[in-house]
Amino acid sequence: MFFEKFRMDGQTAVVTGGGRGIGLACAEALAEAGARIVIIDRDEAVAESGRHVLAGKGVEADALVLDVTDSAAVDTAAADIFAKHGRIDALVANAGIARTGTAAEDTPDELWLNVNDVNYNGVFWCNRAFGRYMLKAGRGAIVNIGSMSGYIVNRPQLQTYYNASKAAVHHLTASLAVEWAERGVRVNAVAPTYIETEMTKTVVDKKMMDIWIRDTPMGRMGQPHEIASVVHFLACDASSLITGATVKADGGFTCW
Ligand code: NAD
Repeated sequence: MFFEKFRMDGQTAVVTGGGRGIGLACAEALAEAGARIVIIDRDEAVAESGRHVLAGKGVEADALVLDVTDSAAVDTAAADIFAKHGRIDALVANAGIARTGTAAEDTPDELWLNVNDVNYNGVFWCNRAFGRYMLKAGRGAIVNIGSMSGYIVNRPQLQTYYNASKAAVHHLTASLAVEWAERGVRVNAVAPTYIETEMTKTVVDKKMMDIWIRDTPMGRMGQPHEIASVVHFLACDASSLITGATVKADGGFTCW
């Protein structure tokens, strides 16, 4: 009985940036809990490969090519998904970019705007669009992917724009949670440490990795499935009393 709360049978879950990395791991976890999965990704090949991975595990997911910075397209996608499935129970707003490596004083407008557009605006467009259907139904759970970078300043890499965008996601999460709490919609976030995905592969060199590991009490990076299990908990009824939280899954990084 108790573990029924962890099941999501018959529910529809949408995962942005779900074609690979943390998003794909979340899609796999929610599918295993019983949810129907809709992957959203900007990159068609990535979306398709994510769908393929899920199909290999016996999960028939939908894959939708969509850029989360396009608020009108996000609204249309939400309407289409609702029309097809008749319900939207969970959203994992995971799509994000880093573009690490530029000093604050050298940051061009384009870089600042692009990172904040995807990581922050995109999260809000998705929360708003999918949240509307949850509010109408009087139930739903949103999990936004923030970052430990919303709490600390990473070193040695420079990424003011990324850090600020993730802190904004955490506060957006709390603000929406409070506004929607009495209407049955929970909004939480997860703040991961460094996770082994394409995102970290593109910035990391041996020297940087040594610093990351040295600064992490657990002495290692995380794996996508270790974030997916937290996301699953926050997306299902097992976390029915939790809203507005940003859960750190960071190997202790933010304690030092
Ligand atoms: P990733 O680059 O492997 O995957 C991100 C996915 O999002 C890709 O499939 C990409 O195509 C998609 N995407 C990017 N921009 C998009 C857009 N505008 N619209 C739709 N889809 C888009 O990255 P990841 O490591 O899996 O990161 C996922 C999330 O976790 C991001 O929000 C990231 O900031 C966050 N995060 C990652 C780490 C880490 O160390 N990897 C740490 C903390 C937080």
